[in-house]
Amino acid sequence: MKIASVLSLPLFAACSFLSVAEPEIDQEHVVRVLSALSADSMEGRETFTPGIEKAAAFLAAEFEDIGLSSFEGNAGFLQSFHVSSLTREEFTVSINGAEIAEENRAAATTSERLSWTDPADFRLMVVGPDDDFGAMFFELRNGDEDVLMFVDPSHRDFFERIRGFLSRPTRRLDLGAGPNTVVVLGNAAEISSVDVQVTNSVEQQGLANVVGVIPGRRADEIVLFSAHYDHIGFSRAVNGDSISNGANDDASGIAAVVELARYFNEMRRPERTLVFAAFTAEEMGGFGSSYFSQQLDPDQIVSMFNIEMIGKPGIQGPNTAWITGFDRSDMGELMQRAVEGTVFSFYPDPYPDQNLFYRSDNATLARLGVPAHSISTTAIDVDTDYHQVSDEIETLDLDHLTNTVRAIAAGARTIVDGDATPTRVNPEEV
Ligand SMILES: [Zn+2]
Repeated sequence: MKIASVLSLPLFAACSFLSVAEPEIDQEHVVRVLSALSADSMEGRETFTPGIEKAAAFLAAEFEDIGLSSFEGNAGFLQSFHVSSLTREEFTVSINGAEIAEENRAAATTSERLSWTDPADFRLMVVGPDDDFGAMFFELRNGDEDVLMFVDPSHRDFFERIRGFLSRPTRRLDLGAGPNTVVVLGNAAEISSVDVQVTNSVEQQGLANVVGVIPGRRADEIVLFSAHYDHIGFSRAVNGDSISNGANDDASGIAAVVELARYFNEMRRPERTLVFAAFTAEEMGGFGSSYFSQQLDPDQIVSMFNIEMIGKPGIQGPNTAWITGFDRSDMGELMQRAVEGTVFSFYPDPYPDQNLFYRSDNATLARLGVPAHSISTTAIDVDTDYHQVSDEIETLDLDHLTNTVRAIAAGARTIVDGDATPTRVNPEEV
């Protein structure tokens, strides 16, 4: 309460003739959204299920109610798109006229069809017994070259793991994107003739982010507030409960995003354009944030406040939150400065070993240079409810949650107002 009035003073002094009530972050609003999303009726909000569609409709109605604008290119608040689900149908490899046995070949491809009939169709790479097969394979997957790897049989164990992984169905946002890698376990040979055939069946699956906008005076400077609204759905029953409600992960973050949208919308027109995004499929590999990042120029995103699991107080006590990847831009420092003299404080992520910077949607935008950080408060290393059916609203500290939303509103204020601009993240280091 204290912080809201302190922060709103200069603003409302400037336009007090409007005699508008001072906006505040309201705990009742936060709890209402949190309760709705973590209710059993949402069935754990798993991507591609009716539960998440219900959650999307609920959030779209919230954005409508607040009076947000829709994001450019979207008809309403749903940012709908598809991913391709690939299932291996056929896979054969023959080299110099001899067919390679099933247990000795693997293929990594995101294409519906792959056909190599000429040694010039790929580069040949030989992995010897002393080479680091794993490192070489993953480097290729991050590159853009089509390669056939001949792998020394001494690497059989690791090869088996890769083969098992690659033969499972997979989902891709961009069908056919990236390099093709075919791995053959066996002694290297000179290749005079080759025939590689891979066929995947492809099914399109629909999903949607929920995105709302408060247009600012500067249309090309965007401040993004985000969280993910998907969760993991049904799990093994514990005491008759099989729904992983994801109250903390990440209905808490979504409740924050919705309340921040309402809060900022009640103020005068912001200097910067504010975008509020509820991402889908975070738990499935971040398809929602990936698709979102392709629908705008990431250079225009001045800051991304990604909110993750803020329903439980962190190890530094109440009125504190941490910021992942604190040193990768000065966004965290700017937030600290913005709340100086208040009860709130932000500090660097205390669990560097958990790689939290990479474990949420912020990483997708950070790879594009955006100062994109997650704000969180839950002790992830000891939390017993994380990804369990016990992640229920009853386990959360609702005062703490509301105070954290207040802290984020306060911490983001100078950036929203255009008075502060975080340094960019170096994508080469992400
Ligand atoms: Zn999460």
